[in-house]
Amino acid sequence: MKYRNDKSGQPVSVLGYGCMRFLRNGASIDYEKAEREILRAIELGVNYFDTAYIYPGSEELLGKVLDSNGLRDKVKIATKLPQYLMQSLKAVDKIFSEELKRLRTDRVDYYLMHMLTDIGSWEKLTEMGIREWIEAKKADGSIKNIGFSYHGTCDMFLKLLDAYDWDFVQIQYNYMDENSQAGRIGLEAASKKGIPVIIMEPLRGGKLANLPKTCGNLIKEFNGKTGKAVTAAELGLKWLWDQPAVTCVLSGMNSIGMVEENCRIADETEAGCFTDEEKTLVENIKTVIKAKEKVGCTGCRYCMPCPKGVDIPGIFHHYNLLYTEGRIEGYRWFFQNMGLREDHGYASRCVACGRCEAHCPQNINIIEELKKADRALRPFYIRPVMYAAGKFVNRKRHRSAKV
Ligand code: SF4
Ligand code: SF4
Repeated sequence: MKYRNDKSGQPVSVLGYGCMRFLRNGASIDYEKAEREILRAIELGVNYFDTAYIYPGSEELLGKVLDSNGLRDKVKIATKLPQYLMQSLKAVDKIFSEELKRLRTDRVDYYLMHMLTDIGSWEKLTEMGIREWIEAKKADGSIKNIGFSYHGTCDMFLKLLDAYDWDFVQIQYNYMDENSQAGRIGLEAASKKGIPVIIMEPLRGGKLANLPKTCGNLIKEFNGKTGKAVTAAELGLKWLWDQPAVTCVLSGMNSIGMVEENCRIADETEAGCFTDEEKTLVENIKTVIKAKEKVGCTGCRYCMPCPKGVDIPGIFHHYNLLYTEGRIEGYRWFFQNMGLREDHGYASRCVACGRCEAHCPQNINIIEELKKADRALRPFYIRPVMYAAGKFVNRKRHRSAKV
């Protein structure tokens, strides 16, 4: 296993265990199977385990496996506060104590504000007194490192990076999402500030490990020419580990085979190891996937900021996901990444001023495409659901600020 350092110089395995995809028997996790997988991963050098309060049964399972096998001190636990549901510091304390109990430990090595989407959410937590709470927990040793997991725009991510002295951050990043959400710009900005970056969705929920047939043929051709036996998953993971700004890549492993294969790839990979041929192969795969997209937006952001607050690249990214990933996945991402934001940035705000179009190097007819994207992303039958869910989450946030 290879390791990269966290902010205080502690080694973190480049492969982290994402504890949200264990096999389930009905409602409960198959404990014995999950235990075997976790133990094998630890044996092969994985020392970073990522869970969350809201992953059903995950904290309890991880706590039990580590405790009953005497392994707590061999690994780092990362878990998350569902900050969007917090109404007071009392509630924060209650959740945190429950998490320690579930995890059978007296400390969390990496604690994250779960799913921050904008600076407003952080400001409300700040008004609630979260900074003082974090400092107290760090002082008594029950939290070692503090960070946040992120779904939102790149601009907002950069603001959040500057808003606090974070020990680490967690972003969604893979070769198809190089220019969406925090993206490469966010990754490198964090790294420049000395903030370690944990990667989630490295294979876009497994999609990049199960590529369409045309992409599979490109890989076969590549292997035939080079004599290698690269797999789709390997390509996606190596693309990440090639970048020195990436500290740890989370994988939701749910078989011994997957644990061993990912550990093998992690062992063989280091920053700068991706060959020019591999880079070309990835670009060719991206071209095939992007051919299904509706708008040729590269996410370059030259059109931003929009004076009316439309998140132009964000809208086009999710519009394209409806066609590359399917409607259910597309709506899911759109809702999670944009629908829950307080400042959602929907295309309906566009007043057709034309400012953005003058800056687009792809000559996209942005105004017209935004109208089509809005119709596709927010059809009449989805609007009430998104509106109600967004209202619910934001009402919780507002209430929390007043307590
Ligand atoms: S045309 Fe619409 S999206 Fe473009 S800058 Fe003006 S308001 Fe924003
Ligand atoms: S300038 Fe054009 S290509 Fe770049 S993010 Fe905006 S719409 Fe997309």
